[in-house]
Amino acid sequence: MVTASAIPQKAAKQRAFFLSQKTKPYEFRMGQLDRLMAAIRAAEPQIFQALKADLGKSMAESFLGEVGFVYEEIRFTKKHLKGWMKPQKVATPLTLAVGSSRIHYEPLGTSLIIAPWNYPFQLAMAPLVGAICAGNCAVIKPSELAPATSRVVADIIEKTFDSDYVWAIEGAVEVSTALLNERWDHIFFTGSTGVGKVVMKAAADHLTPVTLELGGKSPCIVDSDADLDVAMRRITWGKYFNAGQTCVAPDYLLIPKGWQNQVVERISANLDKFFTTDPHASREYSRIITDRHFSRLEGMLGQGNILVGGKTDKASRFIAPTVLSQPRLDQPLMTEEIFGPLLPLIEYDSFDDAIKFVTQREKPLAFYYFGKNAEHRAKAIGSVSFGGGCVNDTLVHLSNPRLPFGGVGASGMGGYHGWFSFEAFSHRKSVLTKATWFDLPLRYPPYEKNFAWLRRIMG
Ligand code: NAD
Repeated sequence: MVTASAIPQKAAKQRAFFLSQKTKPYEFRMGQLDRLMAAIRAAEPQIFQALKADLGKSMAESFLGEVGFVYEEIRFTKKHLKGWMKPQKVATPLTLAVGSSRIHYEPLGTSLIIAPWNYPFQLAMAPLVGAICAGNCAVIKPSELAPATSRVVADIIEKTFDSDYVWAIEGAVEVSTALLNERWDHIFFTGSTGVGKVVMKAAADHLTPVTLELGGKSPCIVDSDADLDVAMRRITWGKYFNAGQTCVAPDYLLIPKGWQNQVVERISANLDKFFTTDPHASREYSRIITDRHFSRLEGMLGQGNILVGGKTDKASRFIAPTVLSQPRLDQPLMTEEIFGPLLPLIEYDSFDDAIKFVTQREKPLAFYYFGKNAEHRAKAIGSVSFGGGCVNDTLVHLSNPRLPFGGVGASGMGGYHGWFSFEAFSHRKSVLTKATWFDLPLRYPPYEKNFAWLRRIMG
């Protein structure tokens, strides 16, 4: 196993590799994306096994939320990369005649990718697709809390790439800290808001730009004209996918006053369909990642009235899909990101009250609105600041590679997926090219005799 002491030398070797210019040609980038795709395909059984071991993730969830997602990201990137790499021509003002202006997308250089445990494969590999397609070197630090997947990720990287180009190092905080002590040209971090601050502080020492993909409490408002059957099916799916351990899972539900019974009835029926009446025995339902997270969530169960679920099994880190009413607003269930299968319901008096409830809190990573009322929909989208979200669905916005995925405020900065990944790992270099056959005399001193003209031209 590689230890933290190897980091300074590897960082220097990656810098040298980047400076060799090898990572820049289109053919090189495409070739490395092909290699990555082939390596993942070959390792599929090990990846599925690892996700089962770490999170009890079903094969279908592992494919939808992890492996298949990365395939799609690679396919989309390969299809568009040639166009993305072309310098972008922009207009040149007459005052700068005769010239042409272009934006060149150049790789930032060496990049550090730090991943979390909840989608431990996807969240290590999808940023890597961005780093490669934009022509960077990369070091990946998978999450130590998903050790089996961390091993598979490191193994795939080791077998696929020259380690001076892409390298993976496993480990916990001490490895992360050693990595953050080095100088990188970009840091791409996915994880909690608290650790995001640590990362940004470390990056400041080297003036390294960061992408911070963080978390928070993502609200979901159900309006009084929502199609309740569809809404509750999509909310139940989005909430309990990966047992609620999804950064964009609906964290809590705001529903019109008096709707509790019909909402609970539908969630309950959906849960029975998805995971049977005994979710503990269902092969489709994930487990909580660690004992610490299990205890944290178990503690939250007492912070509201349990209407559905509530059962736990410490030995298998199982927490049943749970719905709670009247959550205590001053306790962790409502002050912290839940990140587990607990769904608090809050009844609101008016739509404006629901919006106010959301806007009084930190800017969330995701926000969901269910309803038909055009005015309410516009108000919800317009007045709530959030990273991304859906109208009449949950989670799926992040599967459109044409939409940037990222947070705002406490939920993060920057975005990625598709073109936005390419952009995140690139510098936009501006180049204005001038002809030499024309040289405007007015621009040169002495200005006195030409100043009136200059004023006239430039306003
Ligand atoms: P975390 O912040 O605890 O850990 C993330 C990574 O940082 C891990 O690799 C870990 O080893 C490393 N790390 C932990 N402490 C560190 C420290 N002091 N210094 C340097 N590195 C450190 O997050 P987590 O528990 O793995 O993930 C859960 C959080 O991630 C949730 O808040 C969730 O919302 C968020 N998340 C966000 C997204 C997104 O795309 N925005 C996706 C998944 C998860």
